[in-house]
Amino acid sequence: MRLTVLGKSPAWTDAGGACSGYLVEGVEGRAFLLDCGNGVFGKLRARRDYREVEAVVVSHLHGDHVLDLAPFAYALTVGPDAGSVRPALHAPAGAAAFFRRLAGAWGDEELIPRAFALSEYEAGDQIELAGVAVRPHPVPHYGPTNAIELEARGGGRIVFGADGRSSERLAVAAAGADVLIAEATLAEPEAAPLSERGHMSAAEAGELAARAGVGRLVLTHISDELDPGRALAAAAAAFAGTVEIAAEGSTYETGDPG
Ligand SMILES: [Zn+2]
Ligand SMILES: [Zn+2]
Repeated sequence: MRLTVLGKSPAWTDAGGACSGYLVEGVEGRAFLLDCGNGVFGKLRARRDYREVEAVVVSHLHGDHVLDLAPFAYALTVGPDAGSVRPALHAPAGAAAFFRRLAGAWGDEELIPRAFALSEYEAGDQIELAGVAVRPHPVPHYGPTNAIELEARGGGRIVFGADGRSSERLAVAAAGADVLIAEATLAEPEAAPLSERGHMSAAEAGELAARAGVGRLVLTHISDELDPGRALAAAAAAFAGTVEIAAEGSTYETGDPG
């Protein structure tokens, strides 16, 4: 399994960057997308033919994780090969109504369900894509949100924490993973009580990675307006393994291709 960072910006994009999006390549060259935030479709096109993407898995229904489903849907429905493929779209409960409202704002309620075979997943589901077992794990954020666990047929686990405060749920989902991709939106932990927080700092991501016993920590959802050296040092203070900041084009490979 190989995961490539297409976009790692938080809700405001980096200079020249894209919001949340990761290309996952599994067996036999098959591929799917994890999140499709604004800017991601163009980044995908720079690397792979979008017609080869067999599915999109969405962690939660925030703009920075879903907005480029609109250009992707136009490519699939009015592009030169319109209608030739209809990828699966796996999204949390409420997604069907949400996507109708989203594209309905400009008068095309059916845009996303026309382009994608949409299904709403639930906690405990396992979705098989490209020889990778994909498991959503609900985590606390603003609105229903899921960390996404990827386990390759040939071995290896990558856990994408999505957005959310530090939580036992994410530590359990990520336990022993080869790679944890964790959000580090904040320069400092929020002042609010933990139960009311919605995001993590790099220091909190480092503590969580240590608790989960992962092999490698990748900080994501982190703005290019934050100091990367400071974020890395804060995470490394708690976590002894490899820490890096997600960068567009970085790849993470686990196990054999299966
Ligand atoms: Zn986000
Ligand atoms: Zn969010």
